[in-house]
Amino acid sequence: MNPTIMVVEDEPAIQDLIQINLEMGGYRVLIHGNGEDALKHIQHELPDLALLDWMLPGISGIELAKKLRGDSRTKSLPIILLTAKGAEEDKIKGLGSGADDYITKPFSLRELEARIKAVLRRRAPELTQDVIEFHGLKLDPASHKVSGFGKTLSMGPTEFRLLHFFMTHQERVYSRTQLLDFVWGDHVFIEERTVDVHIRRLRAALSPSKHEALIQTVRGSGYRFAKD
Ligand code: CA
Repeated sequence: MNPTIMVVEDEPAIQDLIQINLEMGGYRVLIHGNGEDALKHIQHELPDLALLDWMLPGISGIELAKKLRGDSRTKSLPIILLTAKGAEEDKIKGLGSGADDYITKPFSLRELEARIKAVLRRRAPELTQDVIEFHGLKLDPASHKVSGFGKTLSMGPTEFRLLHFFMTHQERVYSRTQLLDFVWGDHVFIEERTVDVHIRRLRAALSPSKHEALIQTVRGSGYRFAKD
């Protein structure tokens, strides 16, 4: 799945530049010229990262970042702020907008992509293409392959996404609702029992190499990926 980046920027030339380059980099890009439109969009679709310009007509990028941080639905949305060089750059540090990072204009597109990747790796590691290995279990997001002690393990796309999420979020308990949000996507209305069905399939897929015990049931809470 390609990460979706929401860009809120009012200058058409910069909008185009960012859109073209991020799309070439494999991202899905949503563009808005002001914060109000972006907030409306976010009500029905949550992006994986928001890139906000500081100077916008209407509410500023900083105010928008604060609003997003203050809402339970968007409080963990990765945010990068774009600022003009100089005074804004200094101010932004002291403002506590809650942004994960900021980039000063003019910026190079390579820098922009590197920052986006770094923030996603920190905040949403399941969206990166990094190969993950854990006690002989190996998952390669780029080739969509999973192996256990070198043996190929075949599984469906949902089980793959579920395993990718677990492997990038080890040792933590997730409820069925949380797994639906994170793995199936935002605003998807599926019965919680569906999660159990896919957990069962995932365990079966992991059983040839005896990795199924890594998917642990936590009674009354949900599931956890951990060793013992
Ligand atoms: Ca602007």
